Amino acid sequence: MQSAKDSMTKTKNQAQLLDGAVIAEQIKQEAAQEIDRLWVEHEVRPCLAAVRVGDDAASAVYVRNKMKASEEVGIRSEHHALSATTTAVELADLIESLNTRSDVDGILVQLPLPDDLEEAGIIEAIDPAKDVDGFHPINIGKLSMGRPTFAPCTPAGIIELLERSKIAISGTNACVVGRSQIVGRPMAQLLLQRDATVTICHSRTRDLESVTRQADLLIVAIGRPGFVGREHIKPGATVVDVGMNRVTDEATVRRLFGEDAEKRLETISRRGYTLVGDVNPSEVDEVAGWRTPVPGGVGLLTVAMLMRNTVKAAKLRRGLI
Ligand code: NAP
Repeated sequence: MQSAKDSMTKTKNQAQLLDGAVIAEQIKQEAAQEIDRLWVEHEVRPCLAAVRVGDDAASAVYVRNKMKASEEVGIRSEHHALSATTTAVELADLIESLNTRSDVDGILVQLPLPDDLEEAGIIEAIDPAKDVDGFHPINIGKLSMGRPTFAPCTPAGIIELLERSKIAISGTNACVVGRSQIVGRPMAQLLLQRDATVTICHSRTRDLESVTRQADLLIVAIGRPGFVGREHIKPGATVVDVGMNRVTDEATVRRLFGEDAEKRLETISRRGYTLVGDVNPSEVDEVAGWRTPVPGGVGLLTVAMLMRNTVKAAKLRRGLI
């Protein structure tokens, strides 16, 4: 007869999902309450100005989502949609006018910009006090010194997700795969500030899986659909999947979702694509303890943290914190 212990050891591991939607909603509700309070006590209503250049379809969706979230929480928002032929001087003029307007608290320039506009110069033109994306070198410098600043929204949202889900950070081995300015690098800084032992990996890392397998906390932001598999994961690890990749082919969907592929294939036939992360969910769930889903994980938190940063900018600019 099979003992209880035997049957337990043979049970297939199934990672639990970290619900980004619930936590994003909490953060937005907190922002909404703070906005009500700012209005009642100071007659201040925060304002976010979004600047988008060109016709990139994904950028249009991202900006629309940010405007919609602003409206929901009570932030006044402006959408400056410029044509693809906008020059660097014209864009700099718009940013300068938003910098000087006292009613504008936050400015975001949706990336990527068209190729002939140099992103670094444009980001540096934003007043650091209104840089709610946290991409200005002054804010990045403060972040790496461990000083208070606007932390970039995606990694800041991941920290909220981990802390509110009671996932330990302090003392853990954390591994960040990807070293972009908007996710990987600031993510590593925020984990370090919370006393994790942090390793950063990238495309030149040798024997990636032997490094990631040491991680209690694995954050993946590389932009490669389903790249991270079971061989990358330490048993019981928490895996945060930042990737947002549009997949259109059936073979990839079947590889990533196994028995759950049908719903995704239906999405492709309806919408033309399905959104997948950098992690292979069907493989990783056999080993990990926790995993963030795509969609429904990190993406929603990014927008929620933008709302929070905009409220913070409105308060800081008026000396209310
Ligand atoms: P990125 O700027 O393209 O950077 C990708 C990073 O991944 C680079 O550092 C690159 O290394 C590394 N990399 C690429 N292939 C690798 C490999 N095979 N092994 C190890 N490292 C590898 O990307 P990003 O802007 O950070 O975005 C990453 C993903 O996150 C994308 O899918 C993006 O859509 C998504 N994203 C989601 C959100 C959200 O709100 N959920 C926000 C931002 C981004 P090198 O530096 O050596 O080239």
